[in-house]
Amino acid sequence: MSNLVLGIIGGGQLGGMLAKAAKKINIETVIFCDDSEASAKKFADKFIFGNYKDKNIIDNFINKVNVVTFEFENIPFETLEYINNIKPVYPNPSVNKILQNRLYEKNFVNKLNIKTTQYVSVKKKEDINLNSILLPGLLKTVTLGYDGKGQYKLNSIDELNNININFDKEYILEKFVNLKKEISVIITRFKNKKYEIYEPIENVHENQILKNSKIPANINDNIREKSKEWAQIIAAELNYIGTLCVEYFIDKDDNLYVNEIAPRVHNSGHLTINAFNVSQFENHVRAVCKLEQIKLKKIYNAEMINILGDQIVKYRKKKFNNNEFFFDYMKKEIKLKRKMGHLTILKN
Ligand code: ADP
Ligand code: MG
Repeated sequence: MSNLVLGIIGGGQLGGMLAKAAKKINIETVIFCDDSEASAKKFADKFIFGNYKDKNIIDNFINKVNVVTFEFENIPFETLEYINNIKPVYPNPSVNKILQNRLYEKNFVNKLNIKTTQYVSVKKKEDINLNSILLPGLLKTVTLGYDGKGQYKLNSIDELNNININFDKEYILEKFVNLKKEISVIITRFKNKKYEIYEPIENVHENQILKNSKIPANINDNIREKSKEWAQIIAAELNYIGTLCVEYFIDKDDNLYVNEIAPRVHNSGHLTINAFNVSQFENHVRAVCKLEQIKLKKIYNAEMINILGDQIVKYRKKKFNNNEFFFDYMKKEIKLKRKMGHLTILKN
């Protein structure tokens, strides 16, 4: 039994699956979450409820753990920095500073000579008028967006007059890509030049929310290699420790673009739990706790289906075949479009 205690900030399904993976390899976990009913509560050894800015609670959390990680990128940077001065936080909070802001994130990627969609910073309406060449496009808040939240589709300047945009917030305007496909690459970086990379995963979104994921992705060899190479360059440049996901767009001419980078385990990687010898969650725990790196091996091809909102009711009653693995996140409340669970189907 290892004596290491891993602190996880955030108590959603990702935190829950991290805690479960940690338990499997005898790592104790403490989850710190600002929701007293967090669904991950039941998977952790200890649970601390409190505001992410409450210093007393943060100190209590720090005292209980040896190393800290997080399940989502929107934790106040100051909190992560404060913790990191006392106990190591992986990935390093400086990573978050870049990736929790869509503008910094895209600037960072382009500096590496890696392509993103065309974009421009928007602070006022005039900035959109001046960049109408990017229309049709998507206006996205630079911070705090997920599952398509904080995004507006803009087809023309005329449309701009019909929607009410709050310019107290900052945005980016991104050119709309004629998508052929979306893929993601999940990579775990242990230290300099030490990686485990999962093969690209093909993702289908509906209303900007991930609907399903599958391996193998139906893509050409060039895109397969380039997407993995770019993920490796990004992880190295961030000096990243842990699991990271790069989301990509592929357009109708087979151009590859980075859409966004998630400094954490990712929904598209849930199929790694059943399809690989080591899941994205276990790999994350191994990397941040400095445990042994195990060579990754795919065991099955697979498809993962996200279960949103009240679809969960039907799944809870369903009988499954032995190649089907149902995960119920056991969230207290069913909400429209809320991620409630997922199903992984293994294939030959
Ligand atoms: P979130 O942080 O909400 O995941 P994303 O930028 O990844 O935000 O957008 C969610 C989804 O919306 C993408 O996976 C894609 O399907 C669609 N989308 C976002 N930006 C564009 C774009 N520039 N062109 C085409 N589709 C887009
Ligand atoms: Mg996304």
